[in-house]
Amino acid sequence: MDNETMIQYFEWYIPNDGLWWKRCKEHAKRLSELGFTQIWLPPAYKGQSSADVGYGVYDMYDLGEFDQKGTVRTKYGTAKEYKEAVRALQKAGLTVYADIVLNHRMGADETETVEAVQYADNDRNRAVSDTHEITAWTKFTFPGRNGKYSKFQWNHENFSGTDWNEANGQKGIYCFSDKNWNGGTDNENGNFDYLMGVDLDTDNPATLQETEDWGKWYYDEIGMDGVRLDAVKHIDVAFYEKWLGEMRQHTGKAFPAVGEFWSADLGKLTWYLDSVKEKMQLFDVPLHFNFYNASSSGGQFSMRDIIANSLVSVRPEQAVTFVDNHDTEPGQSLTSYVQGWFKPLAYALILLREGGTPCVFYGDLYGIPSQNLGVIPGLKKLLMIRKNYAYGEQHDYLDDDNLIGWVRRGDKEHENSGIAVVMSDADGGSKHMEMGRQFAGQIFHDALGKCMETVTVGEDGWADFGTAGGNVAVWVTKGAYDTITIEA
Ligand code: CA
Repeated sequence: MDNETMIQYFEWYIPNDGLWWKRCKEHAKRLSELGFTQIWLPPAYKGQSSADVGYGVYDMYDLGEFDQKGTVRTKYGTAKEYKEAVRALQKAGLTVYADIVLNHRMGADETETVEAVQYADNDRNRAVSDTHEITAWTKFTFPGRNGKYSKFQWNHENFSGTDWNEANGQKGIYCFSDKNWNGGTDNENGNFDYLMGVDLDTDNPATLQETEDWGKWYYDEIGMDGVRLDAVKHIDVAFYEKWLGEMRQHTGKAFPAVGEFWSADLGKLTWYLDSVKEKMQLFDVPLHFNFYNASSSGGQFSMRDIIANSLVSVRPEQAVTFVDNHDTEPGQSLTSYVQGWFKPLAYALILLREGGTPCVFYGDLYGIPSQNLGVIPGLKKLLMIRKNYAYGEQHDYLDDDNLIGWVRRGDKEHENSGIAVVMSDADGGSKHMEMGRQFAGQIFHDALGKCMETVTVGEDGWADFGTAGGNVAVWVTKGAYDTITIEA
């Protein structure tokens, strides 16, 4: 079996021209040829503004079909174009992941007067006001949709809190007085149930029922293969365990899910996975922070620890590894963008090692013109090497503060497979590594082209594989090298 590889097919600043779903359809075959087997598409429903990226959720039944928030289409196109894109991607052999945002809503149609208690921003268990009336944007009637697909309307009963009192223009963390913050959430800020907008109260049976009804409708309408789950640390862990169970029963399929639990603390991720009974994968956020720290340390990072405390190092089946995403890119909220010089090293680490499902960020593969960021050099070659040659037993040489490497010894199913990877965050050098006697006498080339000389594997199966400083070299067999040079 070939390597599973995901692409996050959007970045924050792609143009608001309504042409994205068409682009997905047109590029489906090309994405498959590049080696992608899974694609994560942006949230497809109507947001609170006509240019919304999708996380400012207004109406999840409006996939670009109704005149709401000043537009019929979404940033990405119309409902019809979305369906056509999903079909084309599936036809090209890709597993399509839809982005699901069930933590919060924004852009309500009307306000309601609600009794609330204000809590401290950094301690959501500490009240800083008495119970008092606030005016909250909690009523969603969706007049532009007029009851099509669902007659459900949201009101304050479905939510646990908000961060805005329209009556006096005061920002603050307000919990509605007949509610509590949902349990089973991250304990940062005391209780991190509340993130933004109006927060879904998943203790309310009507809220739960509606999220399940919507999920089933969405699947019946679109037929996505799986889901990417937004902001799971802000949602009771019991919620997605039940929701995914319902969806799997409804679809009769495996219906894979990958959750975004944004924390560098591995213990929190394993707690979440245990609590949700491993019904999903999680993005490997601790590994992303290792990359970010290494890229910002000017050669002082201890490279022997580059995968230490990562999810992929302890639960490879549950880990979706990544370098950057739409939240970490420059100008966005998480501000942990991995510096450019380190990106080829980071991508080699997620694409060419066994374990984990790597997710390539659109902005790294195609560039982010609005931020003057170009494509990551060599990324397409790394994808090609993953698809064709990164197979077989892995032996690690993660044994030095500056210079580390590993080999994959190839397998019989993949012609010319077997690679040696060596990288350094400081000075260059070479690493004595064992490819195995089956490679004795074979000539290896650096597929990324930074090292022009070749390496010949000794009779004992060992060789010295080099790299330039602050760089990565990916050594492949001559047969592989000739193919890569022709294709890339
Ligand atoms: Ca929440």
